[in-house]
Amino acid sequence: FAGVGISFQTRTGMFGKARALRAVQDVSFELLRGEVLGIVGESGSGKSTLARMAMRLLAPSAGEILYEGRPLAAYKGAQDKRLRGEVQMVFQDPNASLNPRLSIEQSLLEPFILHRRGSRQERQAEILRLLDVVGLPPTVLQRYPFELSGGQKQRVVIARALALKPKVLIADEAVAALDASVKAQIINLLLDLRQEFGLSIIFISHDLPMVQAMCDRVLVLYLGRLMETAPRAVVAQGGMHPYTRALWKSSPAADPDQGLAHEETLAGEIPSPLDPPGGCVFHTRCPQATGRCREAVPERRALSPGHDVACILFEPS
Ligand code: SF4
Ligand code: MG
Repeated sequence: FAGVGISFQTRTGMFGKARALRAVQDVSFELLRGEVLGIVGESGSGKSTLARMAMRLLAPSAGEILYEGRPLAAYKGAQDKRLRGEVQMVFQDPNASLNPRLSIEQSLLEPFILHRRGSRQERQAEILRLLDVVGLPPTVLQRYPFELSGGQKQRVVIARALALKPKVLIADEAVAALDASVKAQIINLLLDLRQEFGLSIIFISHDLPMVQAMCDRVLVLYLGRLMETAPRAVVAQGGMHPYTRALWKSSPAADPDQGLAHEETLAGEIPSPLDPPGGCVFHTRCPQATGRCREAVPERRALSPGHDVACILFEPS
């Protein structure tokens, strides 16, 4: 992602004035091979929009997204098909990804048929292997989605996403709807897959402690802007940006031993993305905001390799 932004035209009422909603603004980051990158933020922070742009479901209106050094928009024909196999996405609701009228076997065969991969026998062997990878018994093949639990369905969706041996897996709130124990199992499964296949994973969630626990690096988004990019160890200390710190403190799972007990919660409402505050977009809720924060848009500043923060508190005075 290089300076990526996207705006949507919105209208309020039939004769309302068209307004540009800047859902994402000037976001830059790299995903390394075999890396687990977390993207966190509250709802409306632009996390899913970033994922949709990476999947080419939306086109950025500014900047570029490159895959293996080439802009996504330049992938055509056979290259385009390869890209579709190599970058896969898992959403929060497995029901949205599984056709209720297809058996699990038919659902798992679909990617092989679409991409014309393997003979009949090879496909059969491959789907059995995939079930094994995600820890499901072969007996689920004859079942239909309604007969499985949410966790089982999400495993099927992950198995299908892995069918074409992707290089990148984007998980957008992929475990948010699951029970704590199933959640942990699916997260461990994703981490094993990274080990086994060298998969790069973009893990999108509103749950900062969970993201911190599983990701090598974390991007913190607020109203479509990057607030902080930090390696896991920095995030474990609560991060540096006031928003990252507030997210930690407001999280029920935050560890009080780290001095981050919730003495403060994230006060106030998230401003409308249609009318974001000027200056630092976080100033209306920031406990450390000063008058300057209302005027100046803070620049991203590298504090150490792989760690940067957009906040005037870290700007050299
Ligand atoms: Fe808070 Fe100001 Fe920093 Fe924004 S720039 S996070 S308002 S201190
Ligand atoms: Mg979302």
